[in-house]
Amino acid sequence: MAGYFLGLWLGLGLILLGIEFYFFILARYIEKDLTGIEAIIFILCLVLSIGMFVKSVGSEEMFILGLFSLLPLPVAELTIKSIRTTREKIQEKIEEETDLKNWLYTIEKQPENVNAYVSVGDIYFKRKEYEKALEFYKKASSIIDMPYIHERIKITEKELLIQKGLVWVCPECSYDNKAEDLKCKVCGYSKLDRDILSDIWKHRKDLLKGSLVVIIGPLILIFLVALYIVLPTYLALIITLVAIYFTIKFFITY
Ligand SMILES: [Zn+2]
Repeated sequence: MAGYFLGLWLGLGLILLGIEFYFFILARYIEKDLTGIEAIIFILCLVLSIGMFVKSVGSEEMFILGLFSLLPLPVAELTIKSIRTTREKIQEKIEEETDLKNWLYTIEKQPENVNAYVSVGDIYFKRKEYEKALEFYKKASSIIDMPYIHERIKITEKELLIQKGLVWVCPECSYDNKAEDLKCKVCGYSKLDRDILSDIWKHRKDLLKGSLVVIIGPLILIFLVALYIVLPTYLALIITLVAIYFTIKFFITY
């Protein structure tokens, strides 16, 4: 009986590590979404995982050690992902700053260059510095009166009002209501509902993931443990595998 269980445990562990290998390394490699250094880190983590798992087999704390052996790859994934986004953001900032400097230099040399004013305005708009954006759009439109510049001025003026809290846009009918109006002048939509609903809507993905981890996570764990008591081990193993497969997929793809 002990040998039978050991075999199952070995099989389960290898399959789980196989799933991790597929998600973190193979699928990435196929999609060409893996740099050399990342590949090396992931493979080292996999080796570490296999080492931990092999060590867990037959030891007294087999279950705990075995579970820990699944951690290195997801941890590496999270670390690499956050480093990547930080680096991309910094890169973007640097490029934007260079663009801004170049356009301001262009304005200095060619004070009639409409394109330069609009481009500087666009950069400030993107940074939500609407007052500065407006200043440059207005300069552009004073040189040449074009519909696309007019459009930008209109949008920026509206964003400025929203930013200052002087106006809120009704999500039902897009009417621009004054801040002190609690209900939409056109359709009667309540601003209070809008704030709460839009907050929930904005964070729906995080909320979903958070509640899944906090509420459903432990339930699934209890459910899985119960499976091992009630069902034949091999059936419980299959269900565990399916659950782990979807959990990994859920947290990786978004
Ligand atoms: Zn409305």
